Amino acid sequence: YRVFVPRDSAALALGADAVAQAVRSEALQRGIDVTLVRNGSRGLFWLEPLVEVQTPQGRIAYGPVEAKDVPGLFDAGFLQGGMHPRSLGLTEEIAYLKRQERLTFARVGIIDPLSLSDYVAHEGYEGLRQALTLPADEIVHAVTESGLRGRGGAAFPTGIKWKTVLDTPAAQKYIACNADEGDSGTFADRMIMEGDPFVLIEGMTIAGLAVGATQGYIYVRSEYPLAIEILNAAIDRARAAGYLGSDILGSGKVFELEVRKAAGAYVCGEETAMLESIEGKRGIVRSKPPLPAITGLFGKPTVINNVISLASVPIILAKGSGFYRDFGMGRSRGTLPFQLAGNIRRGGLIEKAFGVTLRELMFDFGGGSITGRPIKAAQVGGPLGTYLPESQWDTPLDYEAYSAMGAVVGHGGIVVHDDTADLAKLARYAMQFCAIESCGKCTPCRIGATRGVEVMDKIIADEDRPAQIALLRDLCDTMLHGSMCAMGGMTPFPVLSALDHFPEDFSQSLAEET
Ligand code: SF4
Repeated sequence: YRVFVPRDSAALALGADAVAQAVRSEALQRGIDVTLVRNGSRGLFWLEPLVEVQTPQGRIAYGPVEAKDVPGLFDAGFLQGGMHPRSLGLTEEIAYLKRQERLTFARVGIIDPLSLSDYVAHEGYEGLRQALTLPADEIVHAVTESGLRGRGGAAFPTGIKWKTVLDTPAAQKYIACNADEGDSGTFADRMIMEGDPFVLIEGMTIAGLAVGATQGYIYVRSEYPLAIEILNAAIDRARAAGYLGSDILGSGKVFELEVRKAAGAYVCGEETAMLESIEGKRGIVRSKPPLPAITGLFGKPTVINNVISLASVPIILAKGSGFYRDFGMGRSRGTLPFQLAGNIRRGGLIEKAFGVTLRELMFDFGGGSITGRPIKAAQVGGPLGTYLPESQWDTPLDYEAYSAMGAVVGHGGIVVHDDTADLAKLARYAMQFCAIESCGKCTPCRIGATRGVEVMDKIIADEDRPAQIALLRDLCDTMLHGSMCAMGGMTPFPVLSALDHFPEDFSQSLAEET
């Protein structure tokens, strides 16, 4: 019998290790031969730990399972898919999963993350095999044609970035993967690294072949120790099997990979601060130009992409750019793994083609707020994303449509708030976050965020409110247009959206204070 108990951090936080141990000892006691697979998470967090068993009909799910449920599951014959109060039926038929379009996450939760043979059996390394048959510019062309744009937040066309690196002659080039996933309510990068590390390794190897880079670095936040452990183990296995190293699959091509642990600064998610940090320096934003694609890591041409961007590359090479491009809308092609968090009944990972709406994600998938109260706002795109009121929930999630209403899709993180949320306090928090996390390189952010918190305190306390609001708007304008990077440049987004869409909260805060 094959039993799957996730080893993803979210499942572990909910007791998956104890469940795995209970399955092991119960099977031993009953003399039943059980193979326990520690898979990634399916991303249905309210059902974690989600235990699955392999049956001739397909995988059958049970969840959420606690260790104390395990003897009862054996009694109910769960190894043959027997019914139990925790039964969820065939995993693939669970509506939350069935309605998704999983391209980048195709294998997450299905395979054993550290089994190379499992990876290969599920179409793994087909993209690399295809790339090895192509000249570098054709690999870049395929990525450009797919319409893939940076999934870390900036949405810059990946193929164009790669072409700049390809066209810049240098004896040494690098691929740097940004896995410093610091946005609130985001976990897609972590789920890939923990649940399907080889897809990231494969994507980075393809990127190396495409631009002529022989060394890659994965910059992983220190808060992800399990992802670091799994990536290191996967890199060793890929190297031992000839997928990394000095002669990839006998092609004579070279690509090496190393994991670098980040040190907990939000700004190191900014690409040039990340480069500084990988070089062993303090994470401070670099002036641009020069572009990192021309003068990047250690002064060499460098491709910098987010985990999801790179993990989306293998399927593009394996199935063709047209296949990927057929998903999505407008200039937002392919899929995005949306991450639903905050005050939501069914939080988790939803990979869908661009064009889905926030309302569909929050209600059809998420089931509304977990408190049962009306949803008031959702912050999309991390701590510096805008707060969207109900009037904006039907806009299709697409980079351009969001940008047209002054919002960002970012890394696809969605944090939901019910009607008890105080948007004035949340907006103040955004300013304070910027003041704390600012790298200090430029004045609008370094000084502006601190002054911004003071001004907001005055607004909330109703000290000359109209004048202070005008001052805040002026300050936001300076930060928006004068900051060197997105940290200071985006902080006005949550602040202004709260002010514009929820002005009543600023006087409500006053009512609470007095
Ligand atoms: Fe540093 Fe802030 Fe300026 Fe970015 S905006 S360079 S984080 S001070």
